[in-house]
Amino acid sequence: MRCEGYYVKLIVVSGGVMSGVGKGTSVAAIGRILQEYGFSVTAIKIDPYINYDAGTLRPTEHGEVWVTDDGGEIDQDLGNYERFLDIDIPKRNNITTGQVYKEVIDRERRGEFLGQTVQFIPHIPDEIKRRIREAGKNFDFVLIEIGGTIGDYENIPFLFAMKSLEVELGKENVVHILVTYLPVPSNIGEMKTKPTQQAIRMLNEMGIFPDFVLCRAAKPLDTVRKKKIEIYANIDSEHIISAPDVKTIYRVPLNFEAGQLGRKILAKVNLKPRKSPGWEKYEALVSRIETPSRTVKVAMVGKYVDSGDYSLVDSYISLNQALEHATAVLDIGVSIDWIDAKLLETKANLSRLEGYDGIIVPGGFGASGVEGKIAAIQYAREHNVPFLGLCYGMQLAVVEYARNVCGMDGAHTTEVNAETRFPVIDILTLQREILSKHVIGASMRLGAYSAILGASRVLDLYKRTGRLEKDSTRIERIRGMPDQLFRLGTIDRVAAVVLERHRHRYEVNPDFVGTLVKNGMTFPGFHVRDDGTRLMEFIELPDHRFFVGTQAHPEFKSRLSDPAPLYYGFVEACARSGIRGFK
Ligand code: GLN
Repeated sequence: MRCEGYYVKLIVVSGGVMSGVGKGTSVAAIGRILQEYGFSVTAIKIDPYINYDAGTLRPTEHGEVWVTDDGGEIDQDLGNYERFLDIDIPKRNNITTGQVYKEVIDRERRGEFLGQTVQFIPHIPDEIKRRIREAGKNFDFVLIEIGGTIGDYENIPFLFAMKSLEVELGKENVVHILVTYLPVPSNIGEMKTKPTQQAIRMLNEMGIFPDFVLCRAAKPLDTVRKKKIEIYANIDSEHIISAPDVKTIYRVPLNFEAGQLGRKILAKVNLKPRKSPGWEKYEALVSRIETPSRTVKVAMVGKYVDSGDYSLVDSYISLNQALEHATAVLDIGVSIDWIDAKLLETKANLSRLEGYDGIIVPGGFGASGVEGKIAAIQYAREHNVPFLGLCYGMQLAVVEYARNVCGMDGAHTTEVNAETRFPVIDILTLQREILSKHVIGASMRLGAYSAILGASRVLDLYKRTGRLEKDSTRIERIRGMPDQLFRLGTIDRVAAVVLERHRHRYEVNPDFVGTLVKNGMTFPGFHVRDDGTRLMEFIELPDHRFFVGTQAHPEFKSRLSDPAPLYYGFVEACARSGIRGFK
């Protein structure tokens, strides 16, 4: 595809058999491999649902909502792309059916179709193609992941658009990859290829013939089954790639490369490697995740919702990833126990927190389990156990401190108790204005915001991990993003600036900051809005072994070789704990 002087190659990845088998990871891993051969890569996730974005989706059903620098609330696969490719991906790289139709209908209302009948074909695929072209500008490769599974009705317009792009660009510029799953039913004990054969057939019915079939399964693919798929897909067995389960997703590119996937893809699009890959450093990081020298035990006190007979923990995926990144760099493994906050609302259950090297209270919404989270925070504070509070976790640490140290009985966030005498966490004016318009979608403080840091442990951590924002062009780029009115605020002439992503409505109430500080809590970093309002971004208890909270979600910017500073500091503190309960 010619985009402003660049030719783009497309890699289209669809899924067969069922979702949730690691299509997103495969896409990210392929992208990482192509980068290693010297090519620039971006990735797009197509979500065929009608929701405009993932912001209003139930996390227990769809997993965590990923937040981009430019304030997009999107599918968590974009998180894997960013983590593997080490690039910041903009929100436009997540295309939903809702966005496509909205754009076409808005254009029709503006009269831009000049009297034409606006139809499913060609107008819907045209809009999809326009978006792909737009996102692919200035990249060598665009990876496109089609969400859901082949055979879903809602995928049809997207597959149609892919076929049409293939015709426009020429087959030599497009690679189709099918990620499929081979079950081993326990009663048979044999790996079955039939669902994969059917997925290939359904793809063929759309005029798409896969160039590669990635076979996800619990075990590696054997020759008998490889042969079966080879015959069915009509492709060389070299293009049928075994993708067995792995201990860490970061092993996936290495496994693919062991089978020369990168070179095979390049050969398909008539390209030669621009450089020879160097995986040594990467491999060392992955090995540490797999077999760290030592391991710390962390309690994650959150909200776990059951779905039928199953309990889903996918809503904290980025947080787990950030801990894994800290492991990779520090060589300290983290074993996490998930503790349902509701359990801790009963005092007798607090003994469950004994024996952990650290406690994390992650982000969340609403009243469920709140008192349990507060009890866990109090436990961490009083027992000198390293604590990391993320977004809601930080807000509730402020509530706990107000109640139990500052004597503000009944202090609360107004998210849970609007009538409290001490609304230490509250909605501030800007967010209140947005909410008064009765809009729920995109009504939070979203995306990257700057914070100015003063001397503190938080600042030390950002310094030590090289995460202070030095790159003024990056700051300017974010400042220039549309609809990000208060994104950066006043940061001129300040040296210690960090940028972290946000997704919340409530803030520390400035009216109570003075009292909290007087009682020993520090606020080492804040955002200054253009109107001068200060929003507290970090909290810290300087006398505690490690008691840090942030209003942001630093996990969204954690990368394998570049872990988020607070996670890094937390894991390090857990390991340094020595004898628990003592400094
Ligand atoms: N519920 C809180 C708020 O909206 C925290 C949100 C979060 O943890 N992401 O401010």
